[in-house]
Amino acid sequence: MVIDEQRPDTASKVAAGIINPVTGRRIVKTWMIEEVMPFALQQYTELGNQLQITAIEQKDIIDFFPTPQMKHAFAKRYEEDTQYLSLGDDPDAWKNYFSYDFGYGAITPCYLVNLPVVLPAYRRVLQSTNSLLEEPFDASQLQVNADKIQYKDITAHAIIFCDGIASFNNPWFSLLPFAPNKGEALLIEANDMPASHIFKKGINWVPWSKNIFWVGSSYEWEFTNDQPTDAFRERTMAAVQQWVKSPVRLLNHKASVRPATIERRPFIGFHPHMPAVGIFNGMGTKGCSLAPLFAEQLVRHIQQQQPIQPDADVKRFQRILGKR
Ligand SMILES: Cc1cc2nc3c(=O)[nH]c(=O)nc-3n(C[C@H](O)[C@H](O)[C@H](O)COP(=O)(O)OP(=O)(O)OC[C@H]3O[C@@H](n4cnc5c(N)ncnc54)[C@H](O)[C@@H]3O)c2cc1C
Repeated sequence: MVIDEQRPDTASKVAAGIINPVTGRRIVKTWMIEEVMPFALQQYTELGNQLQITAIEQKDIIDFFPTPQMKHAFAKRYEEDTQYLSLGDDPDAWKNYFSYDFGYGAITPCYLVNLPVVLPAYRRVLQSTNSLLEEPFDASQLQVNADKIQYKDITAHAIIFCDGIASFNNPWFSLLPFAPNKGEALLIEANDMPASHIFKKGINWVPWSKNIFWVGSSYEWEFTNDQPTDAFRERTMAAVQQWVKSPVRLLNHKASVRPATIERRPFIGFHPHMPAVGIFNGMGTKGCSLAPLFAEQLVRHIQQQQPIQPDADVKRFQRILGKR
């Protein structure tokens, strides 16, 4: 049974859905990418077949270097390791669409999870099997025993909190070292722009639907609320107008908070002192790539008592979680 109320701007609804194997200014491989990316591809492909939708597509990233220093950093990284990276062989290949002065590289393969289609399609499956309770979860109604939980008229072996940033205030897990990170994105209309790749020049320009592009995002560790800001919109529209050659029109502006963690590792598994209460959270900036693999680990843990990998298992916070 899934308890989930429809909230408009949860992280998964605002996210682009990019799976990118490299990260940061030094273009290093992301954590566990060699395991998580092929597994995610296989799982979203199977899910897409099951739901009869396109759940995932390969969309490589064309990375326009914003500065000569970034060009140098990419070339240096390419010399060390060519896996996932290639240098732009035709310097003018994208000049009809974008303005750029310092060349580009490509990141291959990257994938785009089709979140605006996957999320409602899976919701319909839950509805059709009477497995969805569409209402706010009320923590005061939950009774936890050693080997079962009771929530209103539901009795179950366990409850697993997959409630994103709501876990920051959840009575069982609020002591975990979460590090909320706000992100904003724009939806922009532009005609005659290529939809073959994700394009990047500091910000990502992501094909969304016909002539519509998702553009973002920001990474704010300090913020006063979860709302879209004028500062982001103005800065991003100005950058887009300098970069994209087609006329652009702003359609929408969204913001959400990523459930990130201080040590940049997820929180998976069962409460070390309350074995009927579990968590699946802390995906940070990488929910699309990490969630399939860790969901599989959690299911194997529940069904076959297999261990969750120690650096993701929430049991590593046994002492902190014992303080409550
Ligand atoms: C601007 C932006 C861009 C991003 N881009 C990417 C990207 O390209 N690739 C990527 O991998 N990740 C990206 N992310 C990160 C990604 O969004 C997160 O890692 C992921 O969505 C986290 O999923 P979640 O299920 O843990 O949380 P959420 O998506 O927030 O889901 C939590 C769910 O819990 C429900 N809920 C919470 N409290 C209650 C309650 N009390 N009662 C009932 N229901 C409740 C909510 O309604 C929601 O459905 C981005 C995030 C942002 C903000």
